[in-house]
Amino acid sequence: MILPPPFVPDVSVLRGVGVGQGLAIGPAHLINASKIRYRRYKLSTPEMVERELERLRAARAKLADRIQAAREALPEELRSHDGIFEAHLLLLNDPYLVKASERLITEDRLNAEAAVTAAVRRVVQVMSAIKDGYIKSRLQDTEMVGQALVEAMQEGSEADPEFQEGAIVVCRDLSPSEATKLPKSHVAALVTELGSQTSHTAIIVQAMGIPAVVGLAGVLGRVEQGDLLIVDAREGHVIIGPDPDAIKFYHGRRESEESFKVEIVRSSHLPAITLDDHWINVFGNLEMVDELPAIMSYGAEGIGLYRTEYLYLTSPAFPTEEQLFEVYGRVVGAAAPRPVVIRTLDLGADKILAESGTPESRQNQALGLRAIRYCLKNIDIFRTQLRAILRASALGHVRIMLPMVSSLEEIWKTRELIKELSEDLASEGKPVAEHIPVGIMVEVPAAVVLVDELAAEADFLSIGTNDLIQYSLALDRTNPDVTELYQPFHPSILRMISTIVAAGRKRGLSVSVCGDMAATAQYAPLLVGLGCDMLSMPSAAIPVIKRLLRMSSFDELAALSESVLAATTSDGSLALIDRHLTSRFREFM
Ligand code: PEP
Ligand code: MG
Repeated sequence: MILPPPFVPDVSVLRGVGVGQGLAIGPAHLINASKIRYRRYKLSTPEMVERELERLRAARAKLADRIQAAREALPEELRSHDGIFEAHLLLLNDPYLVKASERLITEDRLNAEAAVTAAVRRVVQVMSAIKDGYIKSRLQDTEMVGQALVEAMQEGSEADPEFQEGAIVVCRDLSPSEATKLPKSHVAALVTELGSQTSHTAIIVQAMGIPAVVGLAGVLGRVEQGDLLIVDAREGHVIIGPDPDAIKFYHGRRESEESFKVEIVRSSHLPAITLDDHWINVFGNLEMVDELPAIMSYGAEGIGLYRTEYLYLTSPAFPTEEQLFEVYGRVVGAAAPRPVVIRTLDLGADKILAESGTPESRQNQALGLRAIRYCLKNIDIFRTQLRAILRASALGHVRIMLPMVSSLEEIWKTRELIKELSEDLASEGKPVAEHIPVGIMVEVPAAVVLVDELAAEADFLSIGTNDLIQYSLALDRTNPDVTELYQPFHPSILRMISTIVAAGRKRGLSVSVCGDMAATAQYAPLLVGLGCDMLSMPSAAIPVIKRLLRMSSFDELAALSESVLAATTSDGSLALIDRHLTSRFREFM
């Protein structure tokens, strides 16, 4: 089936970067990202006033417990920062803040969220007038506590009533943890001014099944609350105030896409065996547990990348071993007998915890303390996670994967730790699988240079192309200004992939790709031609990629990769890739 071409754009079409494949038509819902679920309404009865006072009391108690728990969970080496928790507890009980919030509820008849927000605003106004530097530095803490209170009140409540069903959220930017709070049932699409295709926010919204167009500079100045928008993630287009012809066109397009999807999903459970009998393992990437059914129903042969950091981003304190074990156990058990590659914590870069003393918000975050480096420096946090993973290994088939490895020492230290923790667990009578493969992500140029030596210490290699491109081409993967230069088809990237595959082959290791390239129809066949034996991707990409591979012969892909590797410019390699795709798979492009 051939999809119709994109709509012929007029002046009200804005072009950004599409994330996912979907299409949405709906009213714009402009938000300030830090107030995603903020509600404001008047209380009309005394019962409502009582209820809001109670909600405020309950939220304060809940938050106090959480702050206390976060404080207790603080690893030894971070204990010197314990004062911040004390300060937050004091602010939570600040008589002025509490009394002002209660007065706004009882006298001004504001709901609890609106009352707390207004009270915090007043405190901040008063404190801003004071010259003292220390007091000024507490302003941010006051705002943080206010925000956390509002969030605590919102938990478990229905989506914001102002969020119409099918709303298209428009905002400047979202952090990955804010993205996880979008009311999925009400949001049809997301449009942001900042961001890029491989940012972790993009990864999260894709996992939530929300189509998005990101990096759309100036969109907030063009869109009014409630404007009708069309969001075409496939083309990266947003149309503001479409005319009836455009609406008709896109309704038709949505129908064709739906039937195309139904058709390819039907055969998605079949293995990706090429025309000349090469079996390529197609696995799914998992961020949140509720993606598991979709990944499995699309015929994934396992989980090739379980990004575990989102559990940390969504909980107010570091999760405990029991909490982690419960979630990992659920994933591993549900996927069994299929393998689950659990990637150890990759906090840092754009995945920052605002609270809890994890990597601070700094310039140049991508080059800050991140992933395995962060874990080896915060060894208690790492130990807790590894113990939970080891315990989950007894419930199915677990592989451990280390992110951002750039030295042999990182593998040695982690293996040592795994050995020690396995022995501890055995002596506590907690079962652990006998053999747990430990592999590494190759996503830092230093690891490519050292790949022969690293491969000698690893049980498998997985190429993280999102970061490999970022760090090799020196381009921030979240920065829309450099989107055009972020080129997976850059000759240096393709040659690095070939080098990694050769090193893995020499040792008889599996070499997979779990970055975005594996999920892209343009590159997945090339990766197979380059010798990668496994591709891991978001669930939505699995049916198309499997279909493409089943329609290919390994020999033709190997020949394609050979000619592409000889290219010396990005234009040269791209022309070869595109020529192959348009001649062989026009309907998928
Ligand atoms: C990658 O870098 O390609 C990858 C898969 O890891 P993440 O996107 O989580 O950094
Ligand atoms: Mg990465």
